[in-house]
Amino acid sequence: MTERATPFYCPYCGDEDLRPAEDTHGAWECRACTRVFSLKFVGLVVRS
Ligand SMILES: [Zn+2]
Repeated sequence: MTERATPFYCPYCGDEDLRPAEDTHGAWECRACTRVFSLKFVGLVVRS
């Protein structure tokens, strides 16, 4: 399983203009609101 996840929308402003951040590995930069964020894989849901 890869660690890389691709966001389609900025979680803060909802814009789609995202690109990988140059300074931080695995981080994404929103061109609209200039926020830099990263996605973290937490785990899988175990259904009983
Ligand atoms: Zn944004």
